Amino acid sequence: MIDFSLSPEMEQLRKATARFMEEHVYPAEREIGDDGFLPAPLLKSLQAKVKKLGLWAPHMPEEVGGMGIGVVGLALMNEVIGRSPIGPLIFGCQAPDAGNCEILHLFGTDEQKKTYLLPNVAGEIRSCFAMTEPEVSGADPTNLRTTAVLDRDEWVINGHKWFITGAGGASFSIAMAKTDPQAPKHQRFSMILVPIPTPGFQIIRSVPVMGHSGGSGHSEIRFEACRVPAKNLLGPRGEGFKIAQARLGPGRIQHCMRWLGVAQRSFELMCKHVVNREAFGTKLADKQTIQNWIADSRAEMDAARLMTLHAAWKMDQKLDARLEISLIKFFGAKVLHDVIDRAIQAHGAMGISGDTPLEMFYRDARAARIYDGPDEVHRMVVARRILKEFQ
Ligand SMILES: Cc1cc2nc3c(=O)[nH]c(=O)nc-3n(C[C@H](O)[C@H](O)[C@H](O)COP(=O)(O)OP(=O)(O)OC[C@H]3O[C@@H](n4cnc5c(N)ncnc54)[C@H](O)[C@@H]3O)c2cc1C
Repeated sequence: MIDFSLSPEMEQLRKATARFMEEHVYPAEREIGDDGFLPAPLLKSLQAKVKKLGLWAPHMPEEVGGMGIGVVGLALMNEVIGRSPIGPLIFGCQAPDAGNCEILHLFGTDEQKKTYLLPNVAGEIRSCFAMTEPEVSGADPTNLRTTAVLDRDEWVINGHKWFITGAGGASFSIAMAKTDPQAPKHQRFSMILVPIPTPGFQIIRSVPVMGHSGGSGHSEIRFEACRVPAKNLLGPRGEGFKIAQARLGPGRIQHCMRWLGVAQRSFELMCKHVVNREAFGTKLADKQTIQNWIADSRAEMDAARLMTLHAAWKMDQKLDARLEISLIKFFGAKVLHDVIDRAIQAHGAMGISGDTPLEMFYRDARAARIYDGPDEVHRMVVARRILKEFQ
């Protein structure tokens, strides 16, 4: 039986997280600088406070320094943390570190865990994940061109990547490279840990993008005869795609719940605004069109929340949740967009000004339909699975 009721413990955690967001995170949003991020001393002091409250790294098990609250617990916390774009960084669960730590925990050797996982979970170092390439479709990564050739006891990596989130300032990268060109299509790629700096690993530029200006942005990078020890292979050789799947499952749950946090915050701003603003002799809240926006937004957010919790619940039960994860990825991204869009419209000109966070939310939201796999690919996965039963 599916039961999403919160245990008293989880209820406490949610409340403590919400209180921290109100008291410390929303006020800090005002201190975001030109580069779109918090000054380092403020970030560090907020992270220390979160650790003291025991709310650090909700995505990781306790034995490596996380909270160990399962996928449903993680989803519920992320809905609160996600209400602010700086929330994940303050609670130690931002992309791409969260996903990297998850696969290091699942597939890393003891030495890799000690060198990379533990300091990354603790927030002492940052990391990046290098898969997408400008020359070929990222949605179909079987075409990726980056190669890694074993030369005695070293991998020699050559390739060109872009949109590598957080590469600037990262201490290591997990690179997806073709190691076995003759193997069956889905067993040609492996994941390899590349410490930064390593000769041959070069950041070319931070790609200018719409929204998502926080941190060091999304980099274009090159691997040129970049040599790392053979023991830096992460997980079994040729299993890169399998590991990538393991990485993206919980990642999508976290993203979808954060999107709901953003949608909910936009929704609340819309509701507060329309009960006060008057036009043509009545409050905006009295107009049927506005009421439709409120009702539709609430229905869509409730649907997205239940769908996401259902996917999280299946993951906690160790059931196959592939279809459910694809469903929430494209459905959640649309709900995010539509709710912010209505909130902006209800605010009139103020909605596109910097006087509310709505315009920033809207710019950030556009990318949600592309990263973690474009909507069309997730629709394809869902439709193929359903149609299989009819063929
Ligand atoms: C903000 C952001 C952060 C990112 N961070 C990272 C990162 O840290 N590391 C990393 O490796 N990558 C990252 N990416 C890249 C991301 O994973 C890719 O953009 C994504 O996989 C799509 O690949 P592509 O851009 O090459 O688009 P393409 O694969 O070229 O696809 C282009 C379009 O074609 C259409 N399309 C594709 N396949 C189908 C299909 N089967 N049916 C119908 N239409 C289809 C879709 O509309 C799609 O948007 C990031 C992207 C963004 C926007």
